[in-house]
Order: sequence, then structure tokens, then C-alpha cells
Amino acid sequence: MGIIEHRRLIILGAGPAGLSAAIYAARAELKPLVITGMVLYGQVTLTNTIENYPGFPKGIGGIELGQLFEEQAKVFGTEFAYDEIQSVDLSARPFTLTTYSGSYTADALILAMGSRHKKLNVPGEEAFVGRGVSYCGTCDGWFTKDKNIHVVGGGDSALEEALFLTRFARSVTIIHRRDALRAGAILENRARNHPKIHFLFDSVVKEIRGQEVVEELIVENVKTGEVSQVPSQGVFVFIGHTPNTQTFIGQLELTPAGTIRIDEFMETSQKGVFAAGEIADSHFRQVITSAGMGAAAAISATHYLESL
Ligand code: NAP
Repeated sequence: MGIIEHRRLIILGAGPAGLSAAIYAARAELKPLVITGMVLYGQVTLTNTIENYPGFPKGIGGIELGQLFEEQAKVFGTEFAYDEIQSVDLSARPFTLTTYSGSYTADALILAMGSRHKKLNVPGEEAFVGRGVSYCGTCDGWFTKDKNIHVVGGGDSALEEALFLTRFARSVTIIHRRDALRAGAILENRARNHPKIHFLFDSVVKEIRGQEVVEELIVENVKTGEVSQVPSQGVFVFIGHTPNTQTFIGQLELTPAGTIRIDEFMETSQKGVFAAGEIADSHFRQVITSAGMGAAAAISATHYLESL
């Protein structure tokens, strides 16, 4: 198994929740270790410009904000392991964690591993990832230059990304399964008034087809049952997220929404294990709410460790 290193507090995940927890825990002199996972800074990196994080009236790049969080956490002595968790054992104390390169024990944990995007689960989706199917406008927007593309979903993410993609694409058609959008009024107004954005309501994608790259979508109108072949040069899917709770199933209580159940102190069903950000929140999902949860989890973890 290799060397086992003991820490008072280990934070799992390096998005806004994990890094905010790290800033607070480091300032409480807990010398936290952040095990980053595969996606450094989390989903904040998928947003080109964040316009609603206080302190940045002109907006700030997602990656840039992540880097500033990391820098600030390091100023106060946070250590980082750029590694991924394989298993966590919460049945005995201290808790045991195994990563690809080693093992750790910890007196307290903050789980901030976020969530991952949902898939359509239709034929062709998997096969065309990277060849016209994408889940990230910031990452793949450039490839849509002068193309006629589609965005699936009717929430804030779908509209925000559709608006971003208009910078490159010739046209962006939003396919939504209902005839009313879920997104907020500001984004809805911007999208409805954008000359490059069109809507295909009451419609679902049944299949994604093409030779080398995406060429057409098979779309069904859910009201009439009519099925049509829609030419497409790219499809971006933004239909919500699934919290990354796999490692904790059977070890921690979950909510009906699939997030880790926490109390008002960010504590999970296991004493000494706290959770923050999208692994414990499927509702707000904002950088600032995740950061706030991270700070709160670190304060609670500090009190817990002091009580031991
Ligand atoms: P969301 O609000 O859950 O919206 C998901 C959308 O995908 C909904 O329109 C839903 O349709 C649709 N959908 C779900 N499953 C589907 C399926 N299998 N096939 C087709 N369509 C499907 O997710 P989100 O847009 O990622 O937003 C999540 C949270 O983050 C929200 O609270 C949102 O406000 C927040 N957010 C905010 C901002 C911002 O403030 N600028 C930006 C991004 C996200 P129905 O509407 O029919 O359910």
C-alpha cells in the first residue's frame, strides 16, 4: 500500500468549495491537504467569463478565478496533492483515503468533489464526443466557427452557453423538451433577442448521426410524435448535473436529489465528515454559494477538530 500519511484535515476537490474551505482551514492553522482530483478548479473552468462573483465588476475568467483561489489557499499554507481518490473508508477513525499514488488517514474530511454533466444517453452521443458532441462551450466553441450548431437544454447553462457560442457559430438552435424555458429572465431575454439564436421547442434528440463528424440529429416532437432529420454541425449538451457521490454510496446518507445530505453546519451523516459545493447542493450551483459552503464547512471542521 505504500506510506500512509496522517493529516488533521483533508479536503477532497479543488473547485470553489474545496479551495475556499482550504483558505479558511489554512488560516485556522490546520495545514489542510487538498486532493485535487482530475479537474483542477472544477467546473468554474468551463465558464469563459464569470460575471456574478462579487469583487469583479468587469467579470473574470473561470480558470483565472480558480488560479486566484489556489494562490490564496497556498499563501496560508495549504498543501496540494494533484492526485485522484480511489477509495475512502469512513467506517473507522481516523478515516482512510487511497489515491493513485498513496494512502492517507485524516481526523476530518471536507468533501467538495462537485458534480459532472449529464448525458443524453442516445445512440451516437458517445461515438461523436470530440467530433461534434460537446459539453463545454468554452473548451470547444472555437470549433464551431461559421457552423450551424445545436444546444440541448432549457436551463441557465444551455442559454448562457448558447449565447457564448454565437461568438463563433453561424447559428445556434436551442432544442428544449418543453415550450417554456427554465432559465432566468435575463438570459431568456438575451437569447430570444439574439439574431443568431433559434428555438426548437417540445423536442428531444433521439439520435446523433454522421460519418466522421456530426451531420444530423434525429429529433422527435414530443407533442405531435413527428420525427425529423435535422442537419447539424455540432451539438452541445447542457441538461444538468449528477453529484460525484459514487465513493460514498453506502457510507453516507444521500438526499432524494442524489446529493450528500448535510445539516446546517455542513456536516454529513458521519461525524467529522463535512461536505460543500455541488456534491451537496443541486439547487444553487453558483461559484459564490459553493465558496460560501466551503468556508462554512471549514469553520465547522475547525470546531470539530478543536473538540476532539
Ligand atoms: P437545470 O437548471 O437543471 O436545467 C437543465 C435543463 O435540461 C432543463 O431545461 C431540463 O428540462 C433539461 N433536461 C434535463 N434532462 C434532460 C434530458 N434527459 N433531455 C432533454 N432535456 C433535459 O441545469 P443547468 O442549466 O445546468 O443549471 C443548474 C443550476 O445552475 C441552476 O440552478 C441554474 O440557475 C444554475 N446556473 C446559473 C447560471 C447563471 O446564473 N448565470 C449559469 C449556469 C447555471 P426541463 O426544464 O423540462 O426540466
